[in-house]
Amino acid sequence: MATSTKLVDQVCVSSSPAAATKPNFDFLDLKAQFNTIRVEVMEAITNVMESQIFILGSEVKAFEEEYAKEFDARFAISCASGSDALVLALIAAGVGKDDEVITTPFSFFATAGSIARVGAKPVFVDIEPATFNLDAKQIAAAVTPRTKAVMPVHLFGLAADMDAIKTAVAEKNVSIVEDAAQAIGAKFNGEFVGNIGDFGCFSFFPSKNLGGAGDGGLVTAQTPESADKLRLLRVHGSRKKYHHEILGTNSRLDALQAAILRVKLRHLATWTEGRRAKAQRYRELFAEFNLSGAVSAPVEPQAAYHHVYNQFSIRCSDRDALRSSLRDAGIPTEVYYPIPLHLQPAFSYLGYAPGDFPESDQASREVLALPVFPEMTEAQQRSVVEAIAAFYRRKVNFHPQKHTKSISR
Ligand SMILES: *Cc1c(COP(=O)(O)O)cnc(C)c1O
Repeated sequence: MATSTKLVDQVCVSSSPAAATKPNFDFLDLKAQFNTIRVEVMEAITNVMESQIFILGSEVKAFEEEYAKEFDARFAISCASGSDALVLALIAAGVGKDDEVITTPFSFFATAGSIARVGAKPVFVDIEPATFNLDAKQIAAAVTPRTKAVMPVHLFGLAADMDAIKTAVAEKNVSIVEDAAQAIGAKFNGEFVGNIGDFGCFSFFPSKNLGGAGDGGLVTAQTPESADKLRLLRVHGSRKKYHHEILGTNSRLDALQAAILRVKLRHLATWTEGRRAKAQRYRELFAEFNLSGAVSAPVEPQAAYHHVYNQFSIRCSDRDALRSSLRDAGIPTEVYYPIPLHLQPAFSYLGYAPGDFPESDQASREVLALPVFPEMTEAQQRSVVEAIAAFYRRKVNFHPQKHTKSISR
C-alpha cells in the first residue's frame, strides 16, 4: 500500500530538527484518508462497474438505508448535491414564489442561494458570536405572515440552538429546514442533526466529513408524505416511467458515489472521533503556547452538542496578517467566510448594507480555519500552533499594546 509522501515528509521534518525545512502539508489531506481505505474503495468501484447499474439501483438504496440506520433518520433520500438537497427540501416544504425564509448571513452561498432558487426571499438574522450560528433570539422579530420556513445552518459542524429556534417559530406554520451540510453526525441535546427540524440537508462534497468522489447530497424527512415527494422531485416527478405527477428535476446520487460513500460511512465515526481529538489537541497547544489572549478556539456549548469539526475556525486578532505569515511559514489555512451573504453582489437586490448584521461582519473579519483532519499528525498540529505563536511574538515586539487587546465577541 502506498503511503502519503506528504505525511512521511512531515514526520521526517519533526523527528530530525536538523532538517529545518518548512512544514509541507495540505489544508485537507484526502490522499491520507484514501490510503487507509484504498482496497475497500477500489473493490466497491469495481462492483459497480461490473453491474453497469449507474443510476439509483441497489447501491443507492443500500446507502440510504445504511445512512438512516447510522443516524436514526426516519426517511433518507439521496440527491445530486447538498445545494440540491436544500432546494428539494424547500420545494417539499411548500416554499415558493414570494415566500420568505429566515436564515443566517454567515454561511456558504448555497444556504441563501437555495432559497432564492425556489423563488423565495432570504431574510437574514444575525449570528451568535460564540457559536457562529443563527441567533434564535432575533428570529421572532423577523417573522412576517409570509415566513414559510427557517433554515438554520449547523456551521463548521456545531449544531445551532434548535430548541430556541423551534420555540421562536412555534405555532406559526413555519417549516424548519436544517442545513446540515457541514455537520453529519453532529448532535443537539443528544439528537442527530437533520432529525430535529422538518427536513435535514446533507452534502457529500469531497471536503465534507463524509465526502464522495464528486458531488452528492441527501435529504432527511420526518413524514412518509414528504419522503414520497422528495423521491418524486429528484426524478422529474415521475413514479412510473414517462408519467409525470409533479414538476421535478434530475437530481440523483450516482451509484458509484453511493458505493464509495457506503465504504466511507463505515469509517465515519472513527474519523469524527479523530477530528474531535485534533480539536482538543489544538486547545491544549493554545494553552501551552499562552495564546488565549490572541486567539479563541471554537466552543462546544455542552457535551450533548457533539461538535464534528468539519472546520476548526478560530477567532484571531489581525487575521489577514496572521494568515499571510502562516502561509509564509508553510501552514495552510482558509477563511470561511470572508464576505457574509447579505453583502454578496448576487443578493444586492435584497437591499442589505454593511453593518446590518454586525456579528456576521465581525466574524468575517476575525475567523481563520486551521487544518483539521483525522490523519493529521501531532507534529503538524504543533507546527501550526508554533507558527501562530511566532506571529504574535513578533507582533508584540512591534506593537506591544495590540497584543494584549482581547478579542471583542
Ligand atoms: C457545502 C455546503 C452546501 C452545499 O453543498 P454542495 O454539495 O457543495 O452543493 C450547503 N450549505 C453549506 C453550509 C455547505 O457547507
